[in-house]
Amino acid sequence: MTGGADGLLGTVTTVTPVTVAAPKRSQAGRGCNGTVPELPEVETVARGLADAVVGKTIASVDVTLPRVALAPAGETFAASLCGERVERVWRRAKYIVLDLVSGRRLIVHLRMTGRLIVQLPEITEKVPHTHVLLTFTDGTRVCFADVRTFGRMRVLAAGDPWDADGGLEPLSEGFTSEAFLSMLSGRRMAIKTFLLDQGRIAGVGNIYACEALWEAGIRPSRPAHRISKPALRRLHGAIRSVLQKAVEARGTSVDDYVDVEGLRGGFQNQLAVYGRLGKPCTRCGKPIVRTVIGQRGTWWCRGCQK
Ligand SMILES: [Zn+2]
Repeated sequence: MTGGADGLLGTVTTVTPVTVAAPKRSQAGRGCNGTVPELPEVETVARGLADAVVGKTIASVDVTLPRVALAPAGETFAASLCGERVERVWRRAKYIVLDLVSGRRLIVHLRMTGRLIVQLPEITEKVPHTHVLLTFTDGTRVCFADVRTFGRMRVLAAGDPWDADGGLEPLSEGFTSEAFLSMLSGRRMAIKTFLLDQGRIAGVGNIYACEALWEAGIRPSRPAHRISKPALRRLHGAIRSVLQKAVEARGTSVDDYVDVEGLRGGFQNQLAVYGRLGKPCTRCGKPIVRTVIGQRGTWWCRGCQK
């Protein structure tokens, strides 16, 4: 959650002019089936947005693609936000949540290629593919840009009992090794497929599932019920440590992901297996392989994942 690790990353207090290029596939991302923002990327965007807009009031809202901007029944998206002050910005699962002073919430889901870019008043350059533009009374702008237009912004009425997808937050205190073991009890599916179930664990996607399984030394296709308890405890620790390291590195940019300043994350330089087909395993030296599990590309090491 935003605010749970204040000071961990330092703060983004000034948003400097940056050139935001239209998203394009990077070399490292090729063959990765389109990487979507996961917990560390969404957390990084939420923290950057919090630094930029908490305490500020929305002056105007421009929507150029109405289907990505959803409002409570009987209202328009723009009218439902104008005059609202932002009290808090936080993350739940892969959603960015803006708590507004009236009790309403603005929920942002980046999906595949969505971006939230913050611009200071003096910047006049347009962010390509902006579908929604929020302008605050001090001139700060937040652009919601999305090449593939799967991302969504949704305003919830005050008291709307929204709760993402229901899975446990893997960096929360509630995600204990015992909770993890009991979730897995008797499950026969491939362990990697289980890790991607957002209804169980929130925010873990393809990148961090591959990385955590490598760190724990577990073969991704292994049926969950055939993994020993010590190995599952190792995996529980690996999930948390991989996510924590990725949050500290401000996320992984192998495809389109950038933070609110338009800057790439840094965790792609620390990946052990994801996207590293044919490269030597840093633990045992054998080449990393790619297989498909549950229709998702899966990178792992035959030498040290059993
Ligand atoms: Zn290895």
